[in-house]
Amino acid sequence: MRGIAILGSTGSIGRQAIEVLSLHPDKFYVTALTAHKNADLLFEQVRALRPRMAALTGEEIPVPADLSFCQFCFGPDSLEKVARECEGQDVLAAVVGVAGLKAVMAARKAGKRILLANKETLVAGGEMVMQACPETEDGPTLLPVDSEHSAIFQCLQGADGNPYEKILLTASGGPFRTWEKERIQKATVAEAMGHPTWNMGAKITIDSASMFNKALEIIEAKWLFAARPEQIQVLIHPQSIVHSAIQFRDGAVIAQMGAPDMKVPILYAMSYPERLQTGARELDLPALGMLTFENPDLKKFPSIQMAYDALKTGGAAACVLNAANEEAAGAFLKGEIPFGRIYEIVDFALQKHGHLPARNLSDIDYADALARETARKML
Ligand code: NDP
Ligand code: MG
Repeated sequence: MRGIAILGSTGSIGRQAIEVLSLHPDKFYVTALTAHKNADLLFEQVRALRPRMAALTGEEIPVPADLSFCQFCFGPDSLEKVARECEGQDVLAAVVGVAGLKAVMAARKAGKRILLANKETLVAGGEMVMQACPETEDGPTLLPVDSEHSAIFQCLQGADGNPYEKILLTASGGPFRTWEKERIQKATVAEAMGHPTWNMGAKITIDSASMFNKALEIIEAKWLFAARPEQIQVLIHPQSIVHSAIQFRDGAVIAQMGAPDMKVPILYAMSYPERLQTGARELDLPALGMLTFENPDLKKFPSIQMAYDALKTGGAAACVLNAANEEAAGAFLKGEIPFGRIYEIVDFALQKHGHLPARNLSDIDYADALARETARKML
């Protein structure tokens, strides 16, 4: 039995994680659950799964009397506390934003294995996080949940130790793939929330529309697979069936495919190297008929180039990109800025603070705070 703590259990990934692990009660049990504000759903989940610990990172509220078997913690530090003190071997990091970074570091210090959906953590703290997550005799201490990175990880299982030449990182292209640049600049929240193939939380849905999601994923791939930036090629693949691929020096390409369903990479991270039933729909290739691929339009989506530039700059540049994007995407969701302004805000923050160092957590905190302050001033 593996004990799993789910940080961000009320979110899109958290809820799907509960759904798939509940299919295998003989393999997994839940040790802890956390939410930010959604206390009603958190209480319901605690009632059903009976973890020993739970946290609400927002305000403290009274806990229903029938949940007295569970230790509740409140406030921003409670995420780290749960990550550090929960029972079991695994921590699924499924909170949104850089808010997950300290909890991931705390979980690693306590010897937990990290199942990482929370890509912002790796984007902001890449070097530090990877140093804390070495490969051990028992296998990896960090397993990707993001579908593309899970795909690359799965492809590497077939590499027999051969180095890859190139990562083909696929992207659906989001709802604005076929739009003209001028129209994208003025897109509304409802239009940006209409993702063609994936149903996800609000922030990642906006990131998919701006393609900052793919920018974050380029950086995530660099750290997870020790890739040089020029080894990562983004490919637009609107059907979201090929979740990514790797190419070898002999010209062979190994790809991982499947119907778009996050339950597959979530459960694979939990059960690796075993494969278990997920309830995902079977891939029906004849029904699809055709899979298409195209290069991304870097003029329409400047986010992609910003990721490569941030990797070239190194230090805290990726952290600044992430922080400014979190602020800009949040402001767009609240209707405070037009869609096109997201790119300007991130670009300006990168110009201003992109050269800061990222040697440790306090450097990262500092760069993150400065980038947010600059982004907010531009709103
Ligand atoms: P959601 O917005 O659906 O859920 C986020 C979760 O984190 C919720 O439980 C939320 O609690 C909690 N949370 C929000 N803010 C904070 C905070 N400041 N501190 C602590 N907890 C917080 O997001 P998703 O599930 O879509 O995404 C989670 C992560 O997984 C993101 O990093 C995303 O990029 C990544 N990911 C998501 C995919 C998807 O399909 N959804 C695919 C690949 C990666 P509450 O409900 O109370 O607000
Ligand atoms: Mg992804």
